Amino acid sequence: MLFSEICVGITLGMVILETWSLPVQNSSAVDESRLRLKRTYSGKKIHPDEMNAMDQILLANKRVKSVMGVSLKDGDIARSHLRSAISCPGSNCRWPKSVDGFVYLPYIISSQYNDMDRITIETGMLDIASVTCIKFVPRTHEANYVDIQPKLGCWSFLGMTGGAQTLSLQSPNCMWSGVASHEFMHALGFVHEQSRSDRDYHVTILWENIIQGQRHNFQKHKTNNLNTAYDYSSIMHYGKYAFSEDGEPTIIPKQDPNIHIGQRDGPSATDIHKINILYDCGGLV
Ligand SMILES: [Zn+2]
Repeated sequence: MLFSEICVGITLGMVILETWSLPVQNSSAVDESRLRLKRTYSGKKIHPDEMNAMDQILLANKRVKSVMGVSLKDGDIARSHLRSAISCPGSNCRWPKSVDGFVYLPYIISSQYNDMDRITIETGMLDIASVTCIKFVPRTHEANYVDIQPKLGCWSFLGMTGGAQTLSLQSPNCMWSGVASHEFMHALGFVHEQSRSDRDYHVTILWENIIQGQRHNFQKHKTNNLNTAYDYSSIMHYGKYAFSEDGEPTIIPKQDPNIHIGQRDGPSATDIHKINILYDCGGLV
């Protein structure tokens, strides 16, 4: 099954995001390119303009260890302690298609958000809804829905879990529309781009540069890639320095190490294409 293949393969792992701090540069002899590599997630050394959505998510989740019975895998994919693993049995975790061809994703949103927060979150929804058959709708009576709350960090469960499922967008840390759409894509069933089964043809993982104890965040998953090309510009892609031990890169594109990976604006054209294929939108938007 298409969707199960996407979801299956995320195995158990207690992701615990630990605070990491990296050595401060103190040598004037270090050239600029070297300095650029020695960036950190401290928020001071990484230029905000260069951060992609996942960089921001990892920054926001830096201190997240466990939130109300939820632990995180791959940086921001939630799993309940009541479950042994994240998985999508069959196609049960794909949101159902309505008879009119649209896929209605009911949500409720916390009253703790201010107007700007709501606009940001709704922009993240609209960036998906305006070009796919996915329609985010305020919940009325539906049993299965997303409960958007400003808990600690930015995270979502994978696919539809059944019942109410929390999607956390902390304010202000997660208040980028690109971060919101990233989390909504998890809720739709998508994992990170560099988790793809074919990723080793496209990126090199520099295992030696990854923080000890965080290498599980770079596992490949058995994904159905929906006949799409590997997408360096996916909103679902880790940044080049994700989980870096000492500021050295952890992911390098194979074709050209200078290709920028990830971005912050919103779903890429390929992200949108994948949603349309997975949900069989057939041009309906
Ligand atoms: Zn993510």
